Amino acid sequence: MKKHNFSAGPCILPAEVMKKASEAVLELDGIGLSLIEISHRSKEFVAVMEKARSLALELLGLEGKGYQALYLQGGASLQFLMLAYNLLENKAGYLNTGTWSSNALKEAKFIGNAIEIASSKDKNFNYIPKDFDIPTDLDYLHLTSNNTIFGTQIKKFPKTGVPLVCDMSSDIFSRQLDFSSFDLIYAGAQKNMGPAGTTLVVIKEDLLGKVSRQIPSMLNYKVHIGKDSMFNTPAVFPVYVCMLTLQWLKDMGGIAAIEEINEKKAKLIYSEIDLNPLFQGFANKEDRSSMNATFTLTDEKLKDTFDAMWKEAGINGLNGHRSVGGYRASMYNALTLESVGVLVDVMSDLERKA
Ligand code: PMP
Repeated sequence: MKKHNFSAGPCILPAEVMKKASEAVLELDGIGLSLIEISHRSKEFVAVMEKARSLALELLGLEGKGYQALYLQGGASLQFLMLAYNLLENKAGYLNTGTWSSNALKEAKFIGNAIEIASSKDKNFNYIPKDFDIPTDLDYLHLTSNNTIFGTQIKKFPKTGVPLVCDMSSDIFSRQLDFSSFDLIYAGAQKNMGPAGTTLVVIKEDLLGKVSRQIPSMLNYKVHIGKDSMFNTPAVFPVYVCMLTLQWLKDMGGIAAIEEINEKKAKLIYSEIDLNPLFQGFANKEDRSSMNATFTLTDEKLKDTFDAMWKEAGINGLNGHRSVGGYRASMYNALTLESVGVLVDVMSDLERKA
């Protein structure tokens, strides 16, 4: 039986996507060849890349608005460096809301003057800083929309004239936002899109070409755009799975439809965390993530019993990250409301038993 997969990433993907992806490994669309044994320059794969790029822009509502979508390699972690390489000339600002924001800032400092403009480190990143000043002379402001490890999520994005760059690795395509207010969005595929191995970068083209430094080809967004995201051999299988997942999302009604389900899932788990005296939420209530719910037991003595119960119920991937402890229920797009229901039943069973 398939487990209820709450893994933080790589993570659950839609069952029908997994089926089509596995079929394509054996034979792609009746062509007598596998997806992973054909040239990336073949007409079949070029069509896959083009569809994956256009679906991303379409679902984000960015078609015809001067944006380009790229599927690059090196993970979100390479984007930390690459975006600074391409955009940082004088000064960049970073909102530090967790491990990944801290890493993004660290990498940008290799390139130039990158500063922290606010941080929630004082409380182990359990909240999103608000009402901070944004210098007007920044080349860009960098945000992390969802903090995968700590379970916080930006609900209201700052209004500023400064270009916005956002790491959306763990909540892209999960909720409706005005995506046109961002100048660069990037996301590792391995949460809401596909397997690890490719990173979606959505970039407003007129942001580029403003820095004075020479940019090596592989790190240069313009080079990748000029080659239609095929400057070098792309991660063909991850890109194909992203295409299937984005098509799955489009067919079900796009981001608006999945957001409704994601809200139901989040409501279900957070009401159990709040009502059940055996559990305590980690994140500040107003900043709670709809993707990653972080919580702890109020009585550590129950740990072995609870762990045995959720494993028995067929749940996978519930252990929290070492920097928070406790538990983390990751509820990405492909996780069903039913799976969250199974977890909530286990939590209330524990209360009955204890
Ligand atoms: N940003 C966020 C928000 C993440 O959750 C992660 C972890 N997947 C990363 C960046 C780093 O991603 P990668 O491992 O693809 O470099």
